[in-house]
Amino acid sequence: MQFTDLKAQYAALKTAIDARIQRVLDHGQYIMGPEVAEMESALAGLTGAPHCVAVASGTEALLIALLAIGLKPGDEVITTPFTFAATAEVIALLGGVPVYVDIEPDTCNIDASLVEAAISPRTRAIMPVSLYGQVADMAELNAIAGRHGLIVVEDAAQSLGASYQGRRSGNLSTLACTSFFPSKPLGCYGDGGALFTADSGLARAAREIRVHGQSGRYHHTRIGVGGRMDTLQCAVVLAKLQRFDWELERRRALGTRYGQLIAASGAPIELLGLRPDRDCVWAQYTVVLDHRAAVQQALHAAAIPSAVHYPKPLHHQPAFAAGHDPAAHPHSIRAAQRVLSLPMSADLSEADQDRVVAALVAAVESAASAQPVTV
Ligand SMILES: *Cc1c(COP(=O)(O)O)cnc(C)c1O
Repeated sequence: MQFTDLKAQYAALKTAIDARIQRVLDHGQYIMGPEVAEMESALAGLTGAPHCVAVASGTEALLIALLAIGLKPGDEVITTPFTFAATAEVIALLGGVPVYVDIEPDTCNIDASLVEAAISPRTRAIMPVSLYGQVADMAELNAIAGRHGLIVVEDAAQSLGASYQGRRSGNLSTLACTSFFPSKPLGCYGDGGALFTADSGLARAAREIRVHGQSGRYHHTRIGVGGRMDTLQCAVVLAKLQRFDWELERRRALGTRYGQLIAASGAPIELLGLRPDRDCVWAQYTVVLDHRAAVQQALHAAAIPSAVHYPKPLHHQPAFAAGHDPAAHPHSIRAAQRVLSLPMSADLSEADQDRVVAALVAAVESAASAQPVTV
């Protein structure tokens, strides 16, 4: 069993993917070929965002978003400490200061009710992460941003395809960034990413920053990066878009079924909190439990892959801890100790899912009887 079954996905889409790749090999426009604009327009259609800019990775999308808004050294950006390092990394790279706000203990997304207290005269932006594929409280975050003149940048690396109050992730804030890392809900075969916005000025800025700040050939009007996405990777995304709606449907169904099977087992496993005004595309199917190391070891012995997203909150990471109280953000600390992600992909079979849950329940029960409760 695979944690993310990319081989089964390729087998299902082989004809389309091979044909798309062959077409690029035939026309030979490896940089900014026609597939780049074609993918951008397809993804603008998918999210509803008027502008999509394809870039080299999800990290690059976040960096370009902050360059496009003109983030300056010393500017503060409010974000969650319970995320992949890239979210805070791009802030720090530009000399900005990540200001962490704790998560809601059940959804693991940033707690919007704590954001206002973290705003200072130096705050420029709020960067929520739609973790595990469920959008954060964007309406509240946008309202707070509106009151204080801040920009909201959604880190939608895990949530492409997710809906929130009838709109799509990527089209819920001034800027949004996603990733096509192979294991994301919509992945390519290497690195890739995209930035979304309704603001045509920001879209133009992002397009220029993507190619070294050029507004015309060899005419550099601003400081940019080498941030293009390869034509070949756009071709892979275009082929995968063919059945993306089906994959999203399938991921939601498998997520619901995981929840039902785990709840029915009666084992001491907490499910992620889900809000009624949004869905989850389960970039990771993540549960919360005690004795994680023992559980993970038992799963490994049963040949069930699992992973931890993420084992340390950012304020406990050496590169991001300076100036932060290690005891702050208790929900993030607790989640980092207890989350466990299970195999998830559109091609996961119900039979394999049954095996995962049976092994998980057995592992949790034996860990609970072998060890004293620690929390
Ligand atoms: C994957 C991910 C990123 C980075 O995307 P890359 O394409 O790997 O650069 C950023 N933020 C979050 C929350 C992610 O999951």
